[in-house]
Amino acid sequence: MLNRQGRPSQPGEAAVAAHPTFTGNRALQQEEPLIFEIGRPETTGVDVDEPAPFEPRLGGLERTDGVGLPGLSEPEAMRHYVRLSQKNYGIDTGLFPLGSCTMKHNPRLNERMARLPGFADVHPLQPFSTVQGAFELMDTLAAWLLELTGMQAVAMSPKAGAHGELCGMMAIKAAIAAKGEAATRRVVLVPDSAHGTNPATAALIGFTVRPVPARPDGTVDPAAVQAAIGPDVAAIMLTNPNTCGLFERDVVEIARIVHEAGAYFYADGANFNAIVGKARPGDLGVDAMHINLHKTFSTPHGGGGPGSGPVVLSDRLAAFAPVPFVVRDGERFRLVEDEADAARQGARPFGRLTAFHGQMGMFVRAMAYMLSHGADGMKQASEDAVLNANYVRACLADLMSLPFGNRPCMHEVLFDDAWLKDTGVTTLDFAKAMIDEGYHPMTVYFPLVVHGAMLVEPTESESKASLDLFIATLRDLAMAVRRGDVERFTGAPYHAPRRRLDETRAARQPVLRWTPPEPIREAAE
Ligand SMILES: *Cc1c(COP(=O)(O)O)cnc(C)c1O
Repeated sequence: MLNRQGRPSQPGEAAVAAHPTFTGNRALQQEEPLIFEIGRPETTGVDVDEPAPFEPRLGGLERTDGVGLPGLSEPEAMRHYVRLSQKNYGIDTGLFPLGSCTMKHNPRLNERMARLPGFADVHPLQPFSTVQGAFELMDTLAAWLLELTGMQAVAMSPKAGAHGELCGMMAIKAAIAAKGEAATRRVVLVPDSAHGTNPATAALIGFTVRPVPARPDGTVDPAAVQAAIGPDVAAIMLTNPNTCGLFERDVVEIARIVHEAGAYFYADGANFNAIVGKARPGDLGVDAMHINLHKTFSTPHGGGGPGSGPVVLSDRLAAFAPVPFVVRDGERFRLVEDEADAARQGARPFGRLTAFHGQMGMFVRAMAYMLSHGADGMKQASEDAVLNANYVRACLADLMSLPFGNRPCMHEVLFDDAWLKDTGVTTLDFAKAMIDEGYHPMTVYFPLVVHGAMLVEPTESESKASLDLFIATLRDLAMAVRRGDVERFTGAPYHAPRRRLDETRAARQPVLRWTPPEPIREAAE
């Protein structure tokens, strides 16, 4: 087989096993032990003076031995962290096709803005008079979010999408209680294709979840909603575009049915990046929707990075938004922090969701993203995200199978594993072989409604050349499946620093703590 450069390629175990190295390193792929394994307590990278003698005030509880921190020289510490950082695969390394995550462009400008001392160094307990600029930014960002969604109010404090779901559903619960229907409206409708956080949120605050099946085209049938709804229903939680990458084309009719039954429409807005500037949730009949600032308006995420999930609310729910929120008093901004103050603003908040006002750093990034793109730029980002996903779909549809037929998708394209049937290769094998090719795999086995799902989201910021190489790689892999080159998949990854891991065991029995090896003396006994 010839590779892309026209040279013979040697995929597989044989090529690696034939040339073992003394160090275990493979060229620039260097093995890196834990920092505890390379550190020695007597070594230090900094020269700290002995503290002056002092009288401890801990009544004899003070520590007498070391805390066991690894001791490293400065170059050793640098090498350790630089090597670890080089093992990362991220959007700065290459195309990141993970679906349902909208990993995307994180403009450096945003990072610069978020690090401005006036934003980065503010403390949540500072006097209002000293943080007027931060309040103004929050107020302006809130106005843009309302403009883009066509909604009435926005709660800025939720710190992730799932947290936003909680906020929106608590507002719905409060609204229902205010109407005296708390005892009767106990059910939340959730389509089968929903993200797991939707039913989890509803259940967490005491609702019973009633599933709504999808129809064969992957969308929700209004007739199914009609059949499931009744006077016991508090709300529906619907993702649009949905997790299959499809626009819920009957969303307006679904909203009508839900409202007619006296219930509320919660939209999961995690995929808002596909429709920004094109459609406004407010016009579709949505009552509450979280926006993942980290998925739609940039900010690096994943790997535990911070999120931010402001929730936009319709006029039916606006009054119930939680404290604190920013208001403008004449020339000055301030936070409304308690119920009495909120009541003077005509609001009846369901309570407080977080200690403070939300994720300032993410607000700054989102604002910088919006200002640098402009209204036309944001609309184009949505269009390009959808165009890129459809390009990938069109270029792979002859080799890989599409569960809902070869018709246009939104910002992500969903394949299933029907095309792998009887080949001896699974979705997981295929994903692992992508690692050998230098790509982070797409999202696999989600959404659950599709067998062996492969959800590809190329994002708006990939060039045609980058997409073409990605497509060519997937085509090459798909052709290998067809040829019966099963070994290329079942043993993959061959070239990664670690081979196939026992992911089930890692999830079920995680080893989260390093324990020092027994001292040699004890081992010898
Ligand atoms: C990511 C996502 C969520 C949850 O958002 P977090 O910020 O990760 O809490 C909810 N629904 C969908 C469809 C998502 O993709």
